[in-house]
Amino acid sequence: YTRDMDRSIEARRELEGDLRKALGRDDQLTLHFQPLHSAASSAMTGVEVLLRWKHPTRGWVGPDVFVPIAEEVGLIHELGEWVLGEACRQTRDWPVSTVAVNVSALELSKPGYAMRVANILLRTGADPAKIELEVTESTFTAQHGECQSNIRALRELGLRFALDDFGTGFSSLSRLQQLDVDRIKIDRSFVQGFGKNGSDEAIVQAIIDLAKASGLKTTAEGVETTTQADRLRGIGCDELQGFVFDRPMPAEDIERMWKRKGLHIVKPAG
Ligand code: C2E
Ligand code: CA
Ligand code: CA
Repeated sequence: YTRDMDRSIEARRELEGDLRKALGRDDQLTLHFQPLHSAASSAMTGVEVLLRWKHPTRGWVGPDVFVPIAEEVGLIHELGEWVLGEACRQTRDWPVSTVAVNVSALELSKPGYAMRVANILLRTGADPAKIELEVTESTFTAQHGECQSNIRALRELGLRFALDDFGTGFSSLSRLQQLDVDRIKIDRSFVQGFGKNGSDEAIVQAIIDLAKASGLKTTAEGVETTTQADRLRGIGCDELQGFVFDRPMPAEDIERMWKRKGLHIVKPAG
């Protein structure tokens, strides 16, 4: 047992070192983009930015594995700023209204975060009104002073906020009305139960009704079947995201998709 523990500690330490190196080069970390769709028209409205790491010996390592390590060892700040900078640069001329970027609670809690984001926007020429930062429920329920002032400053710059993985945290539905967010993303664990489990649909219906009453938009993530998409549309969900539409893909694939439809995107230099 202890030997296994030693081994896993060792493996984490190794990944940490490798991640540090990856951050210093330009051939291992990349961004994928997963389209977001209007529920009503199925038109693409935006993308969610998802980080990918091609490890030199292990192959693809998922963000579920390395983001928690980055958070633990403090690399998340550098990593998060790299993601935001790249996302802003690569999507600057995309015909979308939303570029959703995942942000760790640790980033938002660090003094000066809003200022660093403002600098990234200036440097890349990105439109702040397109950027939607996705944070988990706990970020908004914890009342860290620094976090609140960063959120306030970023909202003043025009950025929007979405509450990610909604339903998996512990905050009550009634708290929704007090949170300073624009959108909630309904966790895919609820969506997966559609069609099999009546109570999940009732929960999602309640979430959507309350969100609407509070003036918030809703996105359902992890939509894998047309049945799920139809039901979510039927109960008033605004946007849908999931494998039934598209998988996360490199920027070139997104641009190729537009090109097929006759839309030509000019890629910014640098
Ligand atoms: P998330 O924010 O909930 O992102 C959605 C995840 O669901 C993505 O996994 C996506 O590939 C996956 N997904 C999308 N559609 C479907 C579907 O129809 N079915 C299923 N089963 N899965 C679907 P991914 O890319 O592995 O990312 C995992 C998590 O890592 C993300 O969860 C997010 O919390 C975190 N993450 C990813 N990129 C970043 C980043 O740049 N910064 C931070 N802080 N976290 C990130
Ligand atoms: Ca997300
Ligand atoms: Ca999520």
